[in-house]
Order: sequence, then C-alpha cells, then structure tokens
Amino acid sequence: MKLSEQQRIFTRNIARLVYYAYQNGFELTFGEAFRTNEQQMIYVQTGKSQTMNSNHLKRLAVDFNVFVNNQLTYDWECIKILGDYWETLHHKNRWGGDWNNNEIKDGFLDVPHFEMNI
Ligand SMILES: [Zn+2]
Repeated sequence: MKLSEQQRIFTRNIARLVYYAYQNGFELTFGEAFRTNEQQMIYVQTGKSQTMNSNHLKRLAVDFNVFVNNQLTYDWECIKILGDYWETLHHKNRWGGDWNNNEIKDGFLDVPHFEMNI
C-alpha cells in the first residue's frame, strides 16, 4: 500500500478519535502532526524524542492537547481511554502512552501522541 493511502486511513481514524473524545467528555486542540527532519533533530537532541524514525515525519502521527473540565491534562489513566479506543481503529495504531501495548504505565511515555506505525 502506498504511503499516501496509509496517510488517508490514518487521517480518517484521527477524525473518529476526535469524535469519540468529544462524546466522552474530552476536548482537544491540535499539537504537532507533520514534522520536518530539522525539527525532529532538535527534539532528539533535547530529549523530547528518542528516534529519527518518528511517524510524524511520514504524516502518520498527531499530538493532541487533551482537556477535561476545561483543564489541560497529561494524566495517563485519564487519556488511556482514548489510547485504548485508538488501538481498536487499526491494527497498526499505537498510543504513545503504551508503545508496547502491555496495558501498564512504563518506559518512555508520550501520552498526547497517536500514530499509525507502518
Ligand atoms: Zn508525537
């Protein structure tokens, strides 16, 4: 499958995630979606990312700012509801709060991050 086709599947699933979030008491604003190699290099150098193989470089990842009761939150247990839903939408979807999908809060956490890992 072409990258462009995967990007369109990803974008459609992001729409589903946004809708699900609003149905379940969350509000969202967009953080980053597409990212340049230059920006990714800065994130790796400053420890905000651990890879130069980020799916943001392929237009297959989005970071959301998640609000509950008008408050911005990075609470893992709270946002896990969205991560769990995200992973039901496609077998290649991963949530940054649980990269290895082991259902526990471990390793490098990137709670606002939702991606399709091709
Ligand atoms: Zn991200």
